[in-house]
Amino acid sequence: MLVILKSGAVGEESAAVSRVAERLGCEVHPLALSGRTALLLSGADLRGRESLFEALTGVEQAVPVARPIQRVSRVLGAPLPPLRVGGLTIGGDRPVLIAGPCAVESDEQLIPLARCLKDAGADLLRGGAFKPRTSPYDFQGLSAAGLEILARAREASGLPVVTEAVDERSLELVEEHADVIQIGARNMHNYALLKRAARCSRPILLKRGFAATLEEFLLAAEYLLDGGHEGVMLCERGIRTFATHTRFTLDLAVVPQLRKYTQLPVLVDPSHAAGVRDCVAPLARAAVVVGADGVMVEVHPDPARALSDGAQSLDPTEFAALAADLRRLAATAVAQRESVT
Ligand code: PEP
Ligand code: MN
Repeated sequence: MLVILKSGAVGEESAAVSRVAERLGCEVHPLALSGRTALLLSGADLRGRESLFEALTGVEQAVPVARPIQRVSRVLGAPLPPLRVGGLTIGGDRPVLIAGPCAVESDEQLIPLARCLKDAGADLLRGGAFKPRTSPYDFQGLSAAGLEILARAREASGLPVVTEAVDERSLELVEEHADVIQIGARNMHNYALLKRAARCSRPILLKRGFAATLEEFLLAAEYLLDGGHEGVMLCERGIRTFATHTRFTLDLAVVPQLRKYTQLPVLVDPSHAAGVRDCVAPLARAAVVVGADGVMVEVHPDPARALSDGAQSLDPTEFAALAADLRRLAATAVAQRESVT
């Protein structure tokens, strides 16, 4: 655990933290963090004991930092440069909007849609060329031809593109064609792929495995950072629970929880969580309110005919309305932050 002291904390306040920690069997290692002092406590299991330390005067925050997540950690990791995709900053003062179909199907499907998404305010275009489908009988994506369609859609719309790599071979192709590489939920635990992706020159959007704990999610990101990658963003996309009224359960609490541990931008994908269209916009709005750095939604020009995930895809009109709502909500959030500071 890392106990961060308030900036004016005095020696006696720091000593009080050490006394409590030592009583619990911990070793105490003082660290200087950009002008402030923090105490790294090790050697005993302090899970769930944060409030014990936060109750002491002089303590600003107690953060259950595990040593294994030292690179993604917001306090132990080296400060990362802002994450940029072209002229766009991810993790800046407004949430970014990623939109597009589940799967790239054709020029006719994607190019007019990409222009329309751009006009409605999307920042990035998504679309899968390599599709990790649950059933082997479902549409598996257009592979390399899909990447070429994405490149033409980028050219036509001016939107940078994000697309998924599912293995080392597709990663090489995706790195060549895309602006952002997506590692999907099913591959979050594919450590060989993560190690290889760590050497890529493009930013990486890492989705949370649908049975991954927060720590497992951060450790997957740690593989990327430890391999030398600096441009990683995280994406919550729903986890498996007992509930059957949605495809997965969107874990919005993970957004503020991740903030405690990591400086990486945190995005939310309400489409794969919901699985049903009418839940997508309310969940996207909630994601912005809870402080997500971006939202990724599936949009198809004709959802009823989509080759994959039509049930959860918005049509372009629904997307335009959502984009306007999200802009309003984001502006309100900025105004609120400014009035507090
Ligand atoms: C996707 O975004 O296309 C996708 C397959 O999502 P996930 O990996 O979250 O299931
Ligand atoms: Mn999909």
